[in-house]
Amino acid sequence: EAILSVRDLVKDYGATTGGLLRASGQVSAVAGVSFEVHPGETFGLVGESGCGKSTVGRLVVGLEKPTAGQIVLDGTDIATLNRRERRRTHRQVQLMFQDSYAAMNPRMRVDAILAEPLEIQQVGDTSARRARITELLDQVGLSRRVLERYPHEFSGGQLQRLGLARALALQPRLIVGDEPVSALDVSIQAQVLNLMRDLQRELGLAYVFISHDLSVVDYMSDRIGVMYLGKLVEVGPAHDVVRAA
Ligand code: ADP
Ligand code: ADP
Repeated sequence: EAILSVRDLVKDYGATTGGLLRASGQVSAVAGVSFEVHPGETFGLVGESGCGKSTVGRLVVGLEKPTAGQIVLDGTDIATLNRRERRRTHRQVQLMFQDSYAAMNPRMRVDAILAEPLEIQQVGDTSARRARITELLDQVGLSRRVLERYPHEFSGGQLQRLGLARALALQPRLIVGDEPVSALDVSIQAQVLNLMRDLQRELGLAYVFISHDLSVVDYMSDRIGVMYLGKLVEVGPAHDVVRAA
């Protein structure tokens, strides 16, 4: 049974550069994409810049609504949900960004950054939330001393660990990583990728792993989908797709 099933997904924007230009002047950033992700699996999405990978990611986590198609999470089509219902569903799917710094409020300390999703979803009382935050720091290999620090005091690798901790806060079953290591030095990339894989095994997480870098996608993924101009042009086991590339 798939945790995520994407069927005939379409997202049109007003005319911009790139994408698949339609006669209407609309651009299909995503032009009919279907794939499934199973529990504990990593599905890699690869393709050149502008092919629609990030848009698929934002649709899957519910940050945007599809123009057409279905996004079925655990049997529920989130495209049909209203905002409040979607919020509840969103606990199961979280996004990890390329630039975690940009995704955080620079005026918030780490303790507040990690507490925020727990508070919004009203998870536990203050002491339960504090315990959960400590557990999250341990899971991503950050010292408890960072709780009183601000994002600008972190290195790139530490910021991605923090972004991962925040994504994990509500115990999601699926994390969409949108170029989660692309801004890091290669040696730091390996540390973050290995952490993601260790946590996947420990927590039974599934990933949609988005990157323009085929070698990184190959390293992480069980199956890979190759996107071109808003479409999936190839889907298969990682070793088959990489050999054909
Ligand atoms: P990728 O992640 O593969 O680089 P994106 O999903 O970011 O690709 O973009 C796919 C296409 O959709 C591009 O042509 C991009 O310019 C366009 N696009 C993405 N987001 C928007 C938006 N919010 N408004 C208009 N066009 C967009
Ligand atoms: P609607 O289309 O119903 O007006 P929006 O698409 O504007 O809803 O956004 C729904 C709300 O859900 C937004 O406030 C957004 O910040 C929030 N949201 C989106 N994705 C997530 C997520 N992964 N986790 C938590 N909240 C999210």
